[in-house]
Amino acid sequence: MGAYIGALDLGTTSNRFIIFDREGRIVGLDQKEHRQIFPNPGWVEHDPLEIWENTQAVIQGALNKTGLQGSDLVALGITNQRETTVVWDKTNGRPFHNAIVWQCTRTADICRNLEKTYGQDGFRQKTGLPIATYFSGPKIRWILDHVPEAAEAARKGTALFGTIESWAIWWLTGGPQGGTHVTDVTNARRTLLMNLETLDWDPEILEALEIPAGMLPRIVPSIDPNTWGHTLRTGIFQATVPVCGALGDQQAALVGQTCFQPGEAKNTYGTGCFLLLNTGTKPVVSQRGLLTTLGYQMRGQKPVYCLEGSIAIGGALVQWLRDNLGLIRTAAEVEELARSVEDNGGVYIVPAFSGLFAPYWRADARGVMVGLTRFANKGHLARAALEATAYQTRDIVEAMNADSGVALTTLKVDGGMVVNDLLMQIQADVLGVPVVRPKVTETTALGAAYAAGLAVGYWSGFQELTRNWAQDKTWEPAIDAARREEGYRYWKKAVERTFDWVD
Ligand code: ADP
Repeated sequence: MGAYIGALDLGTTSNRFIIFDREGRIVGLDQKEHRQIFPNPGWVEHDPLEIWENTQAVIQGALNKTGLQGSDLVALGITNQRETTVVWDKTNGRPFHNAIVWQCTRTADICRNLEKTYGQDGFRQKTGLPIATYFSGPKIRWILDHVPEAAEAARKGTALFGTIESWAIWWLTGGPQGGTHVTDVTNARRTLLMNLETLDWDPEILEALEIPAGMLPRIVPSIDPNTWGHTLRTGIFQATVPVCGALGDQQAALVGQTCFQPGEAKNTYGTGCFLLLNTGTKPVVSQRGLLTTLGYQMRGQKPVYCLEGSIAIGGALVQWLRDNLGLIRTAAEVEELARSVEDNGGVYIVPAFSGLFAPYWRADARGVMVGLTRFANKGHLARAALEATAYQTRDIVEAMNADSGVALTTLKVDGGMVVNDLLMQIQADVLGVPVVRPKVTETTALGAAYAAGLAVGYWSGFQELTRNWAQDKTWEPAIDAARREEGYRYWKKAVERTFDWVD
């Protein structure tokens, strides 16, 4: 079978289109950042139309750069920032409100009220998730509460909800002219509205949140030979390419890293960080603040589950050093600045900018910088920023080891921050296990390509994909256990300082 697979990676910071060949190598890539809109402290929005425009621009860009045509693509896969919520008018594609981004905390009151009635873990048995501002369901409720036009359209049946993959699939397959309204099961699982057992929307939770079922997309497997639709001959691809694979970004990275066996884990370092451990076809309910996540599902097969540790602020702290403090001009400069000092000089930063996610789930937490002395300089801040990512990862690994009863032995890594060799060494030191970076670090897009390619039979199965995985570099722990534990002890003290900040 000919040609290539196209993958759209619709991330929090940027949108990318990447073209892969059969060996999983990148043939062409284009990327564009979109605006981060902060209307109030703790609130984060994106413009969904900007995302769709940039999506088309990067598709065009990658095709132009490679000289390929839409018709050279066998299938199209999509991966996306999860939970981010769009509600739009199905008659014209106009969003009723900006997209409410996963990091946004505006639904704190909605969640508090739900917690009062049901308890923070009131939906955990059904959904695997705690009630938290992070998930889409409360974000939908917020839009319906605050945009009368949206509430009216939802009543009339002309409003549609979707996470970003759903929004993009709808546009790619025709938009207002008959676009397909679907969501893949890994994304649906992050709404707080989907039932683990039935893999469908849960009527009781919909009632609790007063969300009309008619506005919700149809839930489909992530790898689906029953294609959801085709791109249009008149559209950006100028060809009918089947759209048949979609995965939330973290699940896509898991697939891209070929963590197909129970016990295999990956950590993705982007805006936030997300560690996923494959636990097989049975969901494990966490006792320690991890999420039970659906990893992926092929049509006709049982879903594969994961334990997930989500960290809200990873690379975003580096952006903050760049944009809010002006300490560095580019994200990459943080490495040089951090290398200008021997160690953190006693400084710890806990970036609880929008509360703390796993394993703490503290919406009341806010960021701290502690251990400051006259000695501390910007190099120490840069170093503490990188360590914040490594220590937050350690918090997750501790919880995961305890929940699963198995100690992690190596960590596969990917995402925008892993070009930072110093961070990788710090991570190995802080965890005390080797950290392994693959040759293709665009694993998120690769996972989306794998989903689409498996659906159309471009790849024969999981084994073939595992053979494509190749290692680039491994970092071994280089500090002794006493130093490791000492640093971690201070980190835990710093975390304590973030609690109870917001009343
Ligand atoms: P996302 O998929 O969430 O949009 P990416 O995987 O593209 O994110 O990663 C972008 C993040 O990585 C940004 O937050 C940026 O600050 C951070 N980043 C990029 N390069 C580096 C670097 N060399 N060192 C540390 N952080 C970096």
